[in-house]
Amino acid sequence: MTEIRIDKLLRSRRRTIELEVSQDAKLVVRAPLHVPVEDIQNILLKKRDWIIEKQAFLRKRKDQYIPKKFINGESFYYLGKPYRLNLINEGTIRLTDYLEFPSALLSDAHHQLTQWYKAVAYENIKERAELYSKIIGLSYERVKISDAKKRFGSCSVRGNLNFSWRIIMSPLYVIDYVVVHELIHLEEHNHSQRFWQKVKRIFPGYQQAKEWLKENDHLLKI
Ligand SMILES: [Zn+2]
Repeated sequence: MTEIRIDKLLRSRRRTIELEVSQDAKLVVRAPLHVPVEDIQNILLKKRDWIIEKQAFLRKRKDQYIPKKFINGESFYYLGKPYRLNLINEGTIRLTDYLEFPSALLSDAHHQLTQWYKAVAYENIKERAELYSKIIGLSYERVKISDAKKRFGSCSVRGNLNFSWRIIMSPLYVIDYVVVHELIHLEEHNHSQRFWQKVKRIFPGYQQAKEWLKENDHLLKI
């Protein structure tokens, strides 16, 4: 039988072998320092079907993503809903039934729209963070908007909450979940059972939001 190609082998002082197929369909193997490659290959062969299936799924998903061209009628997401782009002759970027976009900004369209997304993300997420911090009874320092591609939320030791502007494209319940997740991290710094229990108490539908992010994170780009 042919060997299964490992894209990244990370050895460390760990006891078990862990396999991961990353979002870009690469096979990442985490292994103890001295386990022979043959032993790793044996495990890979047992998991062969799972690896191939997962890689095929992720490659196909990657191919479905088409970079935006900023033409009339093209869809852009805001709070989980698609808005068609409508090029206008004057004014600024704004939402009506369409995403109104001034033609004058087309030469710098990607950057301009990113700036717009960041601004609306900040306004919305700040409001949700204020709301949930009152409900939970936890206070934070500031809400900051980041550029992160995969990490949609994080919190700092100083009590700042960071959110990627990209989550403003997802439905509100998904944003709320990410906000609650980070707020709970202010007092629970890991993903222990206690952490998830607290998330669930505030946000019982969190599993559905987690699932949504896992399945749709490839849509959260422009
Ligand atoms: Zn977390």
